[in-house]
Amino acid sequence: MRTLVTGGAGYIGSHLVDRLVELGHDVVVLDDLSTGHLTNLGQAMSNIRFVEGTILDAKLVDSLTSTADVVFHLAAAVGVGHIVEKPLSSLITNTKGAENVIESCVRHGAKLLLASTSEIYGKTATMPMAEDDDRVLGSTTIARWGYSTAKAIDEHLALAYAQQGLRMSIVRYFNSYGPRLDPRGYGSVVANLLRQALDNEPLTVHGDGTQTRCFTFVNDTVEGTLRAAFDERGEGLVFNIGNNQETTINDLAGMIVAKTSSESRIQHVSYEARYGKGFEDTKRRVPDTRRATDVLGFTAATPLEDGIARTLQWWRTTHR
Ligand code: UDP
Repeated sequence: MRTLVTGGAGYIGSHLVDRLVELGHDVVVLDDLSTGHLTNLGQAMSNIRFVEGTILDAKLVDSLTSTADVVFHLAAAVGVGHIVEKPLSSLITNTKGAENVIESCVRHGAKLLLASTSEIYGKTATMPMAEDDDRVLGSTTIARWGYSTAKAIDEHLALAYAQQGLRMSIVRYFNSYGPRLDPRGYGSVVANLLRQALDNEPLTVHGDGTQTRCFTFVNDTVEGTLRAAFDERGEGLVFNIGNNQETTINDLAGMIVAKTSSESRIQHVSYEARYGKGFEDTKRRVPDTRRATDVLGFTAATPLEDGIARTLQWWRTTHR
C-alpha cells in the first residue's frame, strides 16, 4: 500500500511509521516538526520519504494525498498543556488542518484513518466509555474543551463524508505512553513523572492524585490503529483503542518511583498552580473495548508495569 502519515515524526506517528515500513508499505511522512522530531524517524528515515510541512498547507496535503491509498491522519496539536497555553493555533490546526486532510481523501479516493482521542468523552461519569456514548463537556470559556470539540468536528466531518462514499475508520486513543514520549514538549504524565524520578526531583501529581487513566503502551496503540485501517470490517466505525487497567495517578507515581529506584518524593500540586484558573480535569477515563475486540480482534494487552519498564529502558539508553 502507498501510505501517507501526517504527524509521522511524532511520538505515536513514528512508531506507526516503523511498523508500516516493517510490513513492507510505501510510506510518506508529512510533519511540521512542531512537536515531532526527526530523531524519532532515525531507524525508518532511509526507507521513507519525509516532507517537512504543515497540514494547513492545503495544496501540499492534496498533492501528497493524490498518490496515497491510505492516509493516517495523526498530525494535531496535542497535550493538555499545549491546548491551554495556545488555544487559537491548536484549534486552527485541529480543525482546518484536519479538514484539508479529510477533503483531500474524498477528492482522491484514499482511505482515511483518523486518529482521535478519548478526550472526546469529556468529563462524563459513565464508565466504561463506549463509542456511541454521550459526550459531556464544560463551558467554552474553558480552553481544554476546545480540543475535545475540535476533534469531534473532525469525527463528524469524516462520518458525514463516509455517508457520501469516503472509506474511513476512526480511532480514539486512551493515554498512550512508551518510548519517544517527550517531556520537554507537551509530554504526558508518564513522561513528566519518569523524567522527574530519574532526575531525583519531586514527582508533581496534580490535585489529590485519585483521578484515573487507562495507560496504553504505544505498540498496542499502533496495532489497534493498523487493524482499524486495514481490516475492512472496521470500515465506517469508531474504535476505542485503550487498555482496561484503570490506574490512579498516585499509583502511577508510586510505580515509577519504585521502578526507577528514585529518591524522589511525590508532591501534590493544585490544578490551578499548573494550568491556571478555571481548569477542569477528567476524573476517570476507562474505555469500553468490546467493539475493538469483537470487530478487529484487538486487545491492548501490555500491562502497565511492563510498558513502564520498556519505556524506562529506552529512556536510559537515549538520555544518559
Ligand atoms: N498529571 C499529573 N502530573 C503531571 C502531568 C499530568 O498529575 O506532571 C495528571 C493530569 O492532571 C491528569 C493526568 O495526570 O489528571 C493525565 O494527564 P495527561 O496530561 O497525561 O493526559 P490527559 O489529561 O489528557 O489524560
